[in-house]
Amino acid sequence: MAKITLDNLAHSYLPNPASEDDFALKELNHDWVDGEAYALLGSSGCGKSTLLNIISGLLHPSQGRILFNDVDVTHAPTAERNIAQVFQFPVVYDTMTVRQNLAFPLQNRGADAGYVAARVQEIARMIGMEETLDRKARGLTADAKQKISLGRGMVREDVNALLFDEPLTVIDPHMKWELRTQLKSLHHQFGHTMIYVTHDQTEALTFADKVVVMFDGRVVQIGTPQELFERPEHTFVGYFIGSPGMNVIPAQVEGNRAIVSGSQVPLAQTYGKLDGKVEIGVRPEFVRLSEDEGLPVKIRRIEDVGRHKIVRADFYGSEINIIVEEGAQIGPDMNRVNFDPAHVNVYANDWRVQGEAA
Ligand code: ADP
Ligand code: MG
Repeated sequence: MAKITLDNLAHSYLPNPASEDDFALKELNHDWVDGEAYALLGSSGCGKSTLLNIISGLLHPSQGRILFNDVDVTHAPTAERNIAQVFQFPVVYDTMTVRQNLAFPLQNRGADAGYVAARVQEIARMIGMEETLDRKARGLTADAKQKISLGRGMVREDVNALLFDEPLTVIDPHMKWELRTQLKSLHHQFGHTMIYVTHDQTEALTFADKVVVMFDGRVVQIGTPQELFERPEHTFVGYFIGSPGMNVIPAQVEGNRAIVSGSQVPLAQTYGKLDGKVEIGVRPEFVRLSEDEGLPVKIRRIEDVGRHKIVRADFYGSEINIIVEEGAQIGPDMNRVNFDPAHVNVYANDWRVQGEAA
């Protein structure tokens, strides 16, 4: 297992990149701590696979270095990096049985036959394929083949890191949860450094100790699920994580208050003069409906999602979502909202601004 260091790393698919826009992966410095489980989260095209393929050596970065336990592997081929990678679509040997497919990475390294047999059995149990071990991979469903790919990724215990690139895409929804749980227990058991790429926040937040959020080729925040929830460092993290995401409202900020469309919003901290696009962000969990206090809104819709209700309101053209406890009454005169000041974040040009204690 290894600590993985990204040092001044950046990548462009163009031969002569001229500006930052030409980079699929913008400059990045980061240590992936040995033995941690990370999720790499972001929408399609933001650069997740580019980053993963650079770590595994399938792609050589146009700038910077990669180190495994402080040893420079930037130019080392994939085979020398001793990692396992599982892709979105199955990579299996059709003419081999499931057992042979699972055994292959171990036999390839000259593992002892008794160990191989036991380990294959254990992995087959984890992916729910004990009954299918002697079937040829050819003729199995895409779903079953992907489970074999996952099994092959997990079978070796001596890898530096396990990399997963949206591995559950072709898996049946009910099986997804099961496999994710297995991956998590594998992590607890062996403590591998794991990087799990996904565009699904639920997958990321349930799998990982730390979530690395990417937006437009850039890592915008690395944090625990709780940190991403409480202090989104970029408005994208606010929108993308949460259901619904953070409310982001254009504002002017002066000292310890924000002015939004003529109304005042108290802030828990004090801010200096801010330049550029200024917004406040508050999660729907920290918005309260009121009859007489706060910003005037029009309620558009109330959605009952079981555990709570989501109220969708309009505030001078900005949507404000409010999470209301199940069972709470929403009276016809509740047409104002207020925010818990401790949970109002201030953003300038999409980046969170740290205020000073008021
Ligand atoms: P993700 O995995 O987050 O969906 P990718 O890393 O695959 O994103 O892609 C990031 C960006 O790089 C996208 O704009 C994509 O079109 C571009 N890209 C990916 N692979 C190549 C390639 N082989 N050649 C040129 N551009 C590419
Ligand atoms: Mg991808």
